[in-house]
Amino acid sequence: MVKRIAHIGVATRSIASAAEIYEALGMTIGQVEEVEDQQVRVALVKVGESAIELLEATDPTSSIARFIKKRGEGIHHIALEVDDLEQHLELLSSRGVELVDAVPGKGVDGAAVAFIHPRGTGGVLIELCERSKESDA
Ligand code: ZN
Repeated sequence: MVKRIAHIGVATRSIASAAEIYEALGMTIGQVEEVEDQQVRVALVKVGESAIELLEATDPTSSIARFIKKRGEGIHHIALEVDDLEQHLELLSSRGVELVDAVPGKGVDGAAVAFIHPRGTGGVLIELCERSKESDA
C-alpha cells in the first residue's frame, strides 16, 4: 500500500543556498545527512506529514550532479512511502515496469529506497521508500 507522499526531492547546487527560501518562509531545515549510496548530502524540510528533500551532489558522477548539468536545479523526484518495498518492486517488475533499482538501497534515516525509471512513469522519477522500523522520522 502507498501511504503518503514522503517527500519531494529537489536537486540543488548548494543546500545552504536552496534552504534560504524555506527559512524565509519560517520553515525549519533538518540536519544535513550524507547518503553514500546515492552520493548526495540531504536535508529535509518538514511540511506536515511530508517534506521537501534538498539534495546536493557529493561527487560529479552522482545522479544529482548529472541531473543539474542536464536540466538545471529543480524538482528531481517524488517519494512515495510504501509499507512493503520488496513486494512493490516484485509487483512492478512482473508488470514490466522499468526499475532503476531492482534491489532497495539505503536512503535517509536508514530507510530502504528504490527508484522507478521515468521512462515508465510519464517522465516523473518516482522513489519508493519504506521507513526503517527503528526510525520515527
Ligand atoms: Zn528522495
